[in-house]
Amino acid sequence: MLSKYDIIILGGGTTGLVASKYAVLLGAKTLVIEADRIGGDCTWTGCVPSKSLVFASSLIKKTSEAVDLGFIDADYKVKFSAVKDYINKTVNDIYEEEKPEVLQREGIDVLIGEAHFVSSKEVEVDGQRFRAKKFIIATGAKPTIPRKYIEGLDDVPYLTSDSIFGIPELPKHLLILGAGPIGCELSQAFKRLGSKVTLIDMMKNILPRELKEVSSELELILKAEGIRLALGDPVKKVKQNAKGEIEVYTKEGNKLIGSDLLIAVGREPAIEKLSLEKAGVKVSDNEIILDKYLRTSKKHIYAAGDCVTQYKFTNIAGYQGYIAVRNALLPFYSKGMPKYISWTTFTDPEVAFAGETNKINSIVRDEFEKHTLPNSQIDRARTDNQVDGFIQIYSSTKGKIIGASIVSSRAGELIHEFLLAMLNKTSISKIAKMVHSYPTYSMGNMQLAGNIVERNIFQSYLGGFLKKISRIYRLYK
Ligand SMILES: Cc1cc2nc3c(=O)[nH]c(=O)nc-3n(C[C@H](O)[C@H](O)[C@H](O)COP(=O)(O)OP(=O)(O)OC[C@H]3O[C@@H](n4cnc5c(N)ncnc54)[C@H](O)[C@@H]3O)c2cc1C
Repeated sequence: MLSKYDIIILGGGTTGLVASKYAVLLGAKTLVIEADRIGGDCTWTGCVPSKSLVFASSLIKKTSEAVDLGFIDADYKVKFSAVKDYINKTVNDIYEEEKPEVLQREGIDVLIGEAHFVSSKEVEVDGQRFRAKKFIIATGAKPTIPRKYIEGLDDVPYLTSDSIFGIPELPKHLLILGAGPIGCELSQAFKRLGSKVTLIDMMKNILPRELKEVSSELELILKAEGIRLALGDPVKKVKQNAKGEIEVYTKEGNKLIGSDLLIAVGREPAIEKLSLEKAGVKVSDNEIILDKYLRTSKKHIYAAGDCVTQYKFTNIAGYQGYIAVRNALLPFYSKGMPKYISWTTFTDPEVAFAGETNKINSIVRDEFEKHTLPNSQIDRARTDNQVDGFIQIYSSTKGKIIGASIVSSRAGELIHEFLLAMLNKTSISKIAKMVHSYPTYSMGNMQLAGNIVERNIFQSYLGGFLKKISRIYRLYK
């Protein structure tokens, strides 16, 4: 028998979870269809395992720092199997709250199986059909494998973010292809656990979404930790040698050898199994054509999260899951991208960015006024021996905050002060006036705002005027 729903959500990752919970809150009869495991990338192969790995590796780094500073005298050995146990435990803890039975208790129908469209109103899973008035495609993304550009990829064993967290042993020498957030986080984590690491990218700088000086700062830090950077030279060919090692050949004739290869060059929409043509949903170059309200070419079919956005982050996936349902089940429409966006790369120090979404390209091209405070001027960074990095605010000539970058311990937390300031149109001078606790990293936000305000006042007519008033006042008081 054909089951009928108000809304069917294809994919039970972050987007699907947020979407289904909101749809049920609105009273809609809701079905989530998940091909593999509820939780998607974030829980199983993305944020949760990677941040657990980053945490484990940061403890090891702290231990080695304590040894370097002479605080402890330990001869320690990393147990990779215990690190993996820790990762698995965290993933399973989080999954406990996402299990189908938990969602079902919340009123969401859950079906495990791969869905494809049979028409614009019906999907099929294992021969069973389901009909709905509205659909949300939330099938996420998968690692891009650059077969077209790199000869021999199909003949060598390689890892991706889908498989790296399941490896049985610590790689001796990990070659990481791709120096975006995933490549950078994993290169530092594996180096700290004891692997040799070479980070390779065709771009001249790591983290191509960031300003050059932000990337350069992290490059120095990664190099100082012993990670080899091979940048600005595209890989042309890979092969496995008689010893089982992976050999990587670059355009400029360099040869890099490692025990394992991780491909982290980007992620592409996972939409090929959906039979979108049967639903009449238009696709161009493997991208679903969307309007700004997340509607596909069939207006009752929405798409959200990693399968459609260029900003493949859980925060954006969640936001779009919510907006897609809001637009599908309530009158009027909201835009599918937030006006302000933030993201963080969880290296140590962390690298965080916040900015007005439609000005990101101009920020990265360095088109705004820039104000910088090095961490060496932040007392908390000094007490913690974490002085690498800086806080940077980008502003218009009129002093409006357009964005900010932070390279620092806890940057992922600190950045939200600027995000909130932009959202509420809070001026830099208000951040300067907000008395922050001392000694905190966020005091740096206030210090930088204070420096900007002070400079603006004392380089202007007002500064001269204040000096004069003060001189007269001092004469008589
Ligand atoms: C290593 C790594 C680290 C990351 N770290 C961070 C981080 O620190 N912070 C951050 O914000 N983001 C991070 N991300 C990105 C984040 O994981 C994603 O942005 C987020 O998971 C996207 O959610 P989604 O629901 O759109 O897609 P997914 O989580 O991919 O969910 C899509 C789901 O759809 C299912 N599906 C696919 N096809 C079908 C079908 N035909 N029928 C039914 N179901 C289907 C899939 O099985 C999957 O479960 C990281 C990603 C990776 C890979």
